[in-house]
Amino acid sequence: MSIRRNERIQALVIKGTPQGESNKLTALFLADGRMINAVAHGARKPASRFGASLEPGTVIRAELRYGTSQDALATLSDGAILNSHQGLKQTLDGMGILFDFLGLLQYVCRCAGGDAELYRRSVTLLDHADQAQDDLSGILPMVRGAVLLHLGRMPDWTCCSLCRAPSPERVSLHGVYCSRCAALNRGETRPVAAAVAGLADRIARGEIPLGVQPWGQLDDVFDWMLEASGLRQENNRGYTTHAGR
Ligand SMILES: [Zn+2]
Repeated sequence: MSIRRNERIQALVIKGTPQGESNKLTALFLADGRMINAVAHGARKPASRFGASLEPGTVIRAELRYGTSQDALATLSDGAILNSHQGLKQTLDGMGILFDFLGLLQYVCRCAGGDAELYRRSVTLLDHADQAQDDLSGILPMVRGAVLLHLGRMPDWTCCSLCRAPSPERVSLHGVYCSRCAALNRGETRPVAAAVAGLADRIARGEIPLGVQPWGQLDDVFDWMLEASGLRQENNRGYTTHAGR
């Protein structure tokens, strides 16, 4: 019987639920892409500085101790805050976006598993959102884009997926099309404006576009692609219901 070694981790706190008198059960998205649960003993005692950091949206460094029992939950200890993303938590808007963000991440990791790249993109976006409090309209479309990339569902937005003609005008779940190829496509397609396709292309390249952008239209497209790809099996915005404490 193998005993798991303790390990130093970096993680994004997805959720923290009270457990017993003073403990906190946390859901963590680890930097290597794993999603795990761990118990922080005494985290809800007033004197626990680390416990206070175990809020959703905080990036921590800590040690995971597994103990000797195979089925016991890992224990979280010796932790430190790397970034609590307090800026994002100052407003109701910011909190709403944060919980939708974390809920989607948790849902994707449960359905499809995570990886280090999804973690890296997610924390980069959270850092950006934390700084850009005045303009959060691009955050959810960008995280949906990161998830589409993670799932291998992001098309090349620069040309028709079939004939390679530049400036595609329609999108389906399997690619983007010029109007001629879209007419031949038997599946459902949707129109996509040139500015929206251009913005999607920048997201696909890992950019974080600033200034006024057609975020709402892009979000509709990405949201539809996520939903129709079978990721979202519940009711409207169902994947957000897993977030929260
Ligand atoms: Zn074409």
